[in-house]
Amino acid sequence: MTRFTTPLGEIAIQHLGHASLLIKWEENNIFVDPYSEVADYSLQPKADLILLTHHHYDHLDSKALVHIDSEKTVYVTNIEAAKSIHGANVLAQGEVFNYKGIRIKAVYAYNIENRRDDGHPFHPRGEGNGYILDFDGFKLYIAGDTEIIPEMKEIGEIDLAFLPKNLPYTMSDDMFIKAVELIRPKMVFPYHFFELDAEKLRARMPNGVQLITQ
Ligand code: ZN
Ligand code: ZN
Repeated sequence: MTRFTTPLGEIAIQHLGHASLLIKWEENNIFVDPYSEVADYSLQPKADLILLTHHHYDHLDSKALVHIDSEKTVYVTNIEAAKSIHGANVLAQGEVFNYKGIRIKAVYAYNIENRRDDGHPFHPRGEGNGYILDFDGFKLYIAGDTEIIPEMKEIGEIDLAFLPKNLPYTMSDDMFIKAVELIRPKMVFPYHFFELDAEKLRARMPNGVQLITQ
């Protein structure tokens, strides 16, 4: 659990494993891509807000959702995931949803190099989302399943970036470092990894960027 002070109050972020996050803000429990293989969601609190980046099984998992869903749960999803989530607020890239003052913007997340055997990218451009959560100036970037992409240049100032690191679906160590150099967040948190050598990555961080792993 890592705590941050934002203009909207304190947030505490817990990496539950893989791409799954729990962000506690005021009285709100905000889950990102809850995945039942990495955490026991029957032990988690009910969700006020759930963000889903895309429909792959490790991001849209009904076995996790069933435990944290409630009548008051608000969903923000990409277009494809909304087909399985009744009443979801659907965001295409560039669109914004405001949740109690948090400005949530969907951004691109996709593969350029990494492709399936049939030549199609694992994550085609325009399908999955990343999200930028703006706590009135404190900006959290949750990149989703993506490689380094040109749109990262336009992402603006980021306080904390969650960037995926695993092959073949997202980024290699080298690509991860290049993405950090491009985005230049104040802090970066690797996620969606199968294995992580944090010390090796930390040694390669550009000046002024702090690597966080828990
Ligand atoms: Zn995926
Ligand atoms: Zn994934």
